[in-house]
Amino acid sequence: ARADLKGVLLEINKAAAQYFYVQLKSEHGAQALDYLKRRELDDETIKGFGLGYSNKYSDDLYRYLKSKGYADEMIAKAGLITVDEKKGVYDKFWNRVMFPIMDANNRVIGFGGRVMGDAKPKYLNSPETVIFDKSRNLYGLNRARSSRRPYFLLCEGYMDVISLHQAGFTNAVASLGTALTPGHASLIKRYVQEVYLTYDSDEAGTKAALRAVPILKNVGISARVIRMDPYKDPDEFIKNLGAEAFEERIQKARNGFMFSLEILERSYDMHSPEGKTGFMREAARRLTEFEEEIERNNYIEAVASSYHVGYEDLRKLVTKMAIQQG
Ligand code: ATP
Ligand code: MN
Ligand code: MN
Ligand code: MN
Repeated sequence: ARADLKGVLLEINKAAAQYFYVQLKSEHGAQALDYLKRRELDDETIKGFGLGYSNKYSDDLYRYLKSKGYADEMIAKAGLITVDEKKGVYDKFWNRVMFPIMDANNRVIGFGGRVMGDAKPKYLNSPETVIFDKSRNLYGLNRARSSRRPYFLLCEGYMDVISLHQAGFTNAVASLGTALTPGHASLIKRYVQEVYLTYDSDEAGTKAALRAVPILKNVGISARVIRMDPYKDPDEFIKNLGAEAFEERIQKARNGFMFSLEILERSYDMHSPEGKTGFMREAARRLTEFEEEIERNNYIEAVASSYHVGYEDLRKLVTKMAIQQG
C-alpha cells in the first residue's frame, strides 16, 4: 500500500467504486439496475463506465472501507463520509446510482450520485479533495482521449456522455455541473484543437455555450455549437432520433461566433430597419474583436452573406469601429 495521502485516497475511491459496482449487481441493487435499463444503458456500457449503486443503509460503504483497514480520517478526506459529532459517521452517498469520475489515466478521483426518482438534489457530487479538482477534470476523458475523431463533443452531464459513447460517439466529455474553466480548456487542448459544444437546449445551456466559446478560443480551440432542439439534451436527442440524426446535427453545427449572433438576434426586432441596423452595429463591434485580418475578413464575409448586407459596407463599418476603439 502506498503511504502518501493522494495514493491512499485513490485506493479508497477505487475500493468504493468496486463496492458500488458489486452492490448494483447484487439483490440490493435491483431497483438501480432497473433504473439504468429504463434509461436504455446496456451491460457493456454499465461495466465500461463502472456504474454502481450506494445502498440504503446509511453507513454501508463506511463499514466496508473500515473492514479493508482504512482510517476514518482518510475516508473523510476522500469525501465519502460525513462525520457528525452527534449523529456519528454516515455515508455521503445513500440510495443513489453511482457514477465514478475517472481522470485521464483511469484513476477514480470522485463520484456523482443520482437519485432514482424526483427527490432533490438530483445529483450529488464528491466535494473537491486533494485528488479531485473539478475545474481540471472532464468526465469521459479517460475514454475520449483515444477516440479517432479530431474533436471533442462537450456536453453537460453524466448521462449525456454515457449515451453518446453508447451510440458510438466516443469523443464525448462533460464538465460536471461546473461552468467550463480555462483549466478545462487547456486540458482539452492536449488532445484536440476543436470542440463541438452540445449543451442542453434550455436557457442555462445556451448561456453556458456562449460563455464557453471565448474560453476555448483563448487557448486556441475553435468551437462549434450543436443544437439539440426540440430535445432537452444529447441523451434525449439520441434516444428519440438516434445516432444518424445526431451525426447530421454535428455536420450542421454553427461556428461559435455565428451561434452567438443567432442568439443576439433575439434582442432585436430583425424585421424593422432600426432593429436590424442596431443588430448589425453590435455584430460589427464584435467583428472588431478578430485581430487577425484574414480571419476578420472571413467572418465579415460570413456575416454579410448570412444577414444579406453588402460585404464592403460591413467591412467599412467594422474598420471605422476598430479605428474609433483605437
Ligand atoms: P438526467 O438526464 O439524469 O436527469 P442531466 O444530466 O440531464 O440529468 P441536468 O440537470 O441537465 O441533468 O444537469 C447536468 C449535469 O449537471 C449533471 O449531469 C450533473 O453533473 C450536474 N448537476 C445537475 N444537478 C446537480 C445538482 N443538484 N448538484 C450538483 N450537480 C448537478
Ligand atoms: Mn442542464
Ligand atoms: Mn438528461
Ligand atoms: Mn440535461
